[in-house]
Amino acid sequence: MPESHGTTIELEGLTKRYPGSSLPSVDNVTMEIKAGETVVFVGPSGCGKSTTLKMINRLIEPSGGRIRMGGEDVTGIDAVTLRRKVGYAIQSSGLFPHMTVAQNIALVPRMIGWSRARIGERVEEMLHLVGLDPGEFHGRYPRQLSGGQQQRVGVARALAADPPVLLMDEPFGSVDPVTRDHLQDELIRLQRELRKTIVFVTHDFDEAIKLGDRIAVLRERSRIAQFDTPAAILTSPADDFVSGFVGAGAALKRLNLTRVRDVGITGHPTATVGDPLQLIFDRLRSGGTNEILLLDEQGRPSRWLRRGDLMRAKGSPDRAGTPVHATVNRDATLRDALEAVLTDDTGRVAVTGRRGEYTGVVDMETLLNSVHELLEADRPEAPAEREEA
Ligand code: ADP
Ligand code: MG
Repeated sequence: MPESHGTTIELEGLTKRYPGSSLPSVDNVTMEIKAGETVVFVGPSGCGKSTTLKMINRLIEPSGGRIRMGGEDVTGIDAVTLRRKVGYAIQSSGLFPHMTVAQNIALVPRMIGWSRARIGERVEEMLHLVGLDPGEFHGRYPRQLSGGQQQRVGVARALAADPPVLLMDEPFGSVDPVTRDHLQDELIRLQRELRKTIVFVTHDFDEAIKLGDRIAVLRERSRIAQFDTPAAILTSPADDFVSGFVGAGAALKRLNLTRVRDVGITGHPTATVGDPLQLIFDRLRSGGTNEILLLDEQGRPSRWLRRGDLMRAKGSPDRAGTPVHATVNRDATLRDALEAVLTDDTGRVAVTGRRGEYTGVVDMETLLNSVHELLEADRPEAPAEREEA
């Protein structure tokens, strides 16, 4: 089945006045979102993010303005046609508790009249896509899943009818930080494949930086304070409201924008469990470093060994040295990499491939150079601004 890629979304003067409120909750929002782009709405609680998002799929009826998708005015189209175009995922997954995982995922395809067979296939495909084993999860109920698993099912359900547009309202807001990090990584991976047009709402600026191709920083009544790339917002925030939202340490936050694949990954001397001790010594000497990385039988990083460790090990290097606790893959951010380097305290971190196999290392010096470059990039403008103030 061909996946449908994203489509443009244009909001024109979009406005919402709730009955009984003197001021509109969303006031005259105009923006263009490109096909295949991930745009993140970020702003303080109550500023109108959810209301704006829900007008796009008309869970909330606009009081004024227009919405176009792929150039076509969808402000007045019927709900069923709209569900076909727009998937929707929310916080706490929003799954129906009395339906199984499969029934939840099948919801929109059933509503728009897909055949039983096609729905069955699609449910399996979606479970695979979000990393859940269909055999295990198909018949479970939401309460039998962890928070992170529920969230994955929520995303599977939103994507089931293959809509070009995906709306996500704080979808990872209620899971623990580690799971949230994983789900964010998954979404980035999915999006690289699917190229949907995603509008993602969060109040967490770090999440916005990580996920957004562009970020719309919203102030009260959903008015756009700045709409630009994460790098541009971090480097030149439009005003005090945006700076306040970016928070302290803007330069360091840019560590989230650079990936391990963008910096210098280098080779490092390695040996494999079971290699003769003499060979390990030889490699240490010829490698010009004081540490060698020992790999397990599957080629995965296992231990860091120094010469002294080897002397003490008396022939069994597989229990000597320091175990590898942290590794990163090529898509990890520099921030992740720095964290990993500090965790293992060996001055470098091993970079692994899809199956956890060793592919190279990034060392502390490379990371610090990148940090230095980021800090340098901030410098030119700062003195001038201070003189004006
Ligand atoms: P956010 O998602 O940014 O936290 P919302 O879009 O939920 O903000 O809410 C924006 C504003 O609209 C808030 O002031 C909120 O109180 C108000 N609001 C939201 N839903 C309703 C409603 N159903 N009736 C009246 N006011 C509402
Ligand atoms: Mg909200």
